[in-house]
Amino acid sequence: MTFGPHIPQERRLVTAIPGPKSQEMLGRRSEATSASLGMAIPVFVSHAGGGVIVDIDGNSIIDMAAGIATVNVGNSADRVVANVKAAIEAFTHTCFTVAPYSGYVEVCEALNRITPGNFKKKSMLVNSGAEAVENAVKIARAATKRPAVVVFEHAYHGRTNLTMGMTAKNIPYKEGFGPFAPEIYRMPMAYPFRWVGDKDNVSAEALDMVTHKIEKEIGAHNVAAIVIEPIQGEGGFVVPPKGFLPGLAAYAKANGILFIADEVQTGFARTGNMFAVEDEGVEPDIMIMAKGIGGGLPIAGVTGRAEIMDVPVGSGIGGTFGGNPIACAAALGAIATIEEDGLVEKARHMGAIISAALESMKAKYAIVGDVRGRGAMQALEFILPGTMEPNTKAMQDIVKYCQQKGVLLLTAGTYSNVIRLLPPLVMPDHLLNEALAILDEAIAASNA
Ligand SMILES: *Cc1c(COP(=O)(O)O)cnc(C)c1O
Repeated sequence: MTFGPHIPQERRLVTAIPGPKSQEMLGRRSEATSASLGMAIPVFVSHAGGGVIVDIDGNSIIDMAAGIATVNVGNSADRVVANVKAAIEAFTHTCFTVAPYSGYVEVCEALNRITPGNFKKKSMLVNSGAEAVENAVKIARAATKRPAVVVFEHAYHGRTNLTMGMTAKNIPYKEGFGPFAPEIYRMPMAYPFRWVGDKDNVSAEALDMVTHKIEKEIGAHNVAAIVIEPIQGEGGFVVPPKGFLPGLAAYAKANGILFIADEVQTGFARTGNMFAVEDEGVEPDIMIMAKGIGGGLPIAGVTGRAEIMDVPVGSGIGGTFGGNPIACAAALGAIATIEEDGLVEKARHMGAIISAALESMKAKYAIVGDVRGRGAMQALEFILPGTMEPNTKAMQDIVKYCQQKGVLLLTAGTYSNVIRLLPPLVMPDHLLNEALAILDEAIAASNA
């Protein structure tokens, strides 16, 4: 059997979705695993590569999820597999803070080089996005000696205690899991589609509200960091209009507040830049990275100004598995793939195809209220025609229809009415076009 990009790049259904083998595994899944774990598509994976996932019944499904933007370079990308094989045969783990190894240093050198900002940077590695967010906040508090953390409506920063508090949406992320950490302050988000003020002036109005709230409700001198996703992920791919991110960064700088970009979902070529903040030339003091960094292996990073990253007390940051050597080898393979195979440009190319298709859906179908995003990170927001009311039913019907036709899509949004597209950046055009055509057909068929 061949793996990775050598899998035939085709959509091919040989059974219903789910097929009999997946159905059997679904039975075992519900017996063995917590019922509280979600599932986007009810099929079990046999192998995956390029733009497809092949299930255990032999169905080949177009993958518009990329493991939630983790396999930007595709599943089992050649360089990732080769690096991982070599690393795992050499040693599996010594713990970087016990006996260091070069892979960890090389990943940090790469992150220091590819993140925006022409200043001396340093990095640390952890296992997950949430852990990276936690460490960024710890470092920012240590460096500023201030307690408060500013976050935004519709934000998603993870599922640990601190990051649940930073995440906006209650169900499913927070319900029943409190109490949450103190000193987290939520600000209005510049969300153009749902802005209630002057639609031509969203950035300036939102910036006014945020700075007013910081000054009157927290005190700027108490704020350690402003943490924001440059394009919000789980919150529904909300793209703040031009000026909002630079405005926040400038305000932060003027007030001794650290500007932290959570690029866990937007990073690693996803939006048509290596990082989404580059679109407006913003240089964060600290960058949080995970998802796409490791070609599918669990690794995450925090990169920041050297003088900030060096502040916490010696041995004050770290962890047993953070920057595991196998995961580091995978990350080096993934970063090399992005750079050498031109995946930033590929994301722009895919973005042009996606934008054209989604804009045409918006023009044709009254349930499509908004199209937004950049590069290979774009979304549709569904409404009841002629209103601003969220249309969750349409979203569900459309996702189901696409699954039955062999296209895997993810949802998002505070109002559970967004379909988000996150295809692997190695997906061939014919599969992308086919997936978009089926999405179009699904919206036409929806009468919700
Ligand atoms: C997924 C995500 C996280 C959390 O990452 P995990 O690896 O799931 O802990 C944090 N921030 C953003 C923007 C994310 O999309």
